Amino acid sequence: MASITVTMPDGAKRQVEIGTPVAEVLKSLGSYNRQVVAAKVNGRIVDLSTQICEDCGVAPVSVESPEGLDILRHSTAHLMAQAVKRLFPEVQITIGPTIADGFYYDFKRDQPFTPEDLNKIEEVMREIVAAACPIRREEMPRAAAIEFFKGLGEQYKAEILDGIPEDAVSLYRQGEFVDLCRGPHVPSTAAIKAFRLTSVAGAYWRGDERNEMLQRIYGTAWPSSKELDAYLKRIEEAKQRDHRRLGPALDLFSLHPIAPGSPFFHPKGAVVYNALIQYMRSLYGRYGYTEVITPLIFKTELWQTSGHYEAFHDDMFLMKAEEEEYGVKPMNCPGHCYLFATRKHSYRDLPVRYADFSRLHRFERSGTLAGLTRVRSMVQDDAHIYCTPAQLDSELEQFIAMTREVYGVFGFDRIEVTLQTRPERFLGRIELWDAAEAALRRVLEQAGYPVTVLPGEGAFYGPKIGFDFRDVLERSWTLATIQIDCAMPERFGLKYVTPEGTDAVPVMLHRAVLGSIERFIAILIEHTAGRLPLWLAPVQVRVLTITERQDHYGREVTDRLLRAGLRAELDNRNEKLGLKIREGQLEKVPYMLVVGDKEAANGTVAPRSRSGESSPALPLDAFIDRLLDEAVPGRRSETPAS
Ligand SMILES: [Zn+2]
Ligand SMILES: [Zn+2]
Repeated sequence: MASITVTMPDGAKRQVEIGTPVAEVLKSLGSYNRQVVAAKVNGRIVDLSTQICEDCGVAPVSVESPEGLDILRHSTAHLMAQAVKRLFPEVQITIGPTIADGFYYDFKRDQPFTPEDLNKIEEVMREIVAAACPIRREEMPRAAAIEFFKGLGEQYKAEILDGIPEDAVSLYRQGEFVDLCRGPHVPSTAAIKAFRLTSVAGAYWRGDERNEMLQRIYGTAWPSSKELDAYLKRIEEAKQRDHRRLGPALDLFSLHPIAPGSPFFHPKGAVVYNALIQYMRSLYGRYGYTEVITPLIFKTELWQTSGHYEAFHDDMFLMKAEEEEYGVKPMNCPGHCYLFATRKHSYRDLPVRYADFSRLHRFERSGTLAGLTRVRSMVQDDAHIYCTPAQLDSELEQFIAMTREVYGVFGFDRIEVTLQTRPERFLGRIELWDAAEAALRRVLEQAGYPVTVLPGEGAFYGPKIGFDFRDVLERSWTLATIQIDCAMPERFGLKYVTPEGTDAVPVMLHRAVLGSIERFIAILIEHTAGRLPLWLAPVQVRVLTITERQDHYGREVTDRLLRAGLRAELDNRNEKLGLKIREGQLEKVPYMLVVGDKEAANGTVAPRSRSGESSPALPLDAFIDRLLDEAVPGRRSETPAS
């Protein structure tokens, strides 16, 4: 028999007989173990049973690799469909793709699946895994496959096949179950070790609400039960910390259908909101920013000049007034360009740094809105810098320094930096783009950050760097960003006078450190589980009386705290002390001051932190001094943040 040459990633070569399954090749080369679920042949991922018919490069695909995990999860979707058909033969199958951390499968069934159904399905899945059912690929002419699925009563599969251009299609068979699928799959159901069905939801066939409603079962699958358990724990923790639950529970904000995606900040939420803005404002003097106030609504001519109208107009709120079209601003930049152009600038005036806490509106589709993380109405700690090309590097360095300072205050220490480069659709000259990308790279390198490049992900007007922060739940959030604008200064005809007396176009930078205040609050709530640091806590101290006898002293203590500039409240209700403490802890109030007869007589207070540690009574003045010291942004408080 003819032989062919296979090459491993390390360059090792071997002669094998033509038609040898790739699993055998891997075994003969010592590259096969229980973690291997598929193989790469000349870079293409295939089933382990695939026969090798020509000279090629071969590599194993481990279940721990992203590709391997995807194969495992899709194979678990097939396994789930097999179990569903065993339990409910009248159900029709449709599609079952993978998603982040898991998979789903849509079934045609009139009534929804119940949690008990999910348990039964999982049980049957485990039986099929125990039976170690081989999973085999078959090929079939498309017409024959249509007849085959019609014969099984699977109308949706027949419909999918109708829309496929290929003449031949592949099916995957495991025991009595057959699915139309491109593959690849794990070789046997025994390879599926750890899974859980997580939820059920309605979904329209082909995502179109004019079509019939299907039942979607979601699940997750992992290489080991250890990884599955860790994932389920993470999900549970995320639910507990979800800002959409905690925010309203802590009386910080709410959302109402009367203004979709536009949060109402309650008195306590407004304290947090304003404290964040105030903190950023407090840095502006030192970093050379000046605050400006600019219009909310502009004639759309402005957005045509800036290029937003073309790229962004489906995402804007537009309106007609006096026969003219107006738009509510989705960002401050074009308005700042107008402001810059209101006066003549010399190189000596630059850099100009405009900071603006204006409200912005973006028309996000209702289906995409989510709590405070995806909103229609928001405020950013936004600023635009206009400088000379020679000042660019030092402006970028200053921005990095400011970001470091702010992240330090919040204790955000796990940072990843990304550089997002020119997208396919872009404005401005390519030389400007190249120079801008080079400047960003240079400054990041000097600052000592390893950089992940995200090709093509820059904004349409310029490249961007992002400082991504990883939270306690291992999720990554882009907060601080800076972009070099390669289009707007020229489009708005901005200029300054150079030392030689000629006109030149200034460099424009867009930057924010917190990003949207709304989204930042959401992230902070989830990262701290609602235990905001003292300087941000809406109520910093609550005074708790034990009986009516301390009413007078309680008022006096609260009053002194308020006069010291602390956010204090008195709880003198006729309730048990234990209940008052529990409520304070639930509301995540950093400190509770218990005042009984002894404290009233001695002019002391007995502090208790929200994590339950109590300290011995101390004079009120001493406590106030300690708190004032601790309520400074970035000061570590006695009570750990998480
Ligand atoms: Zn499939
Ligand atoms: Zn901007």
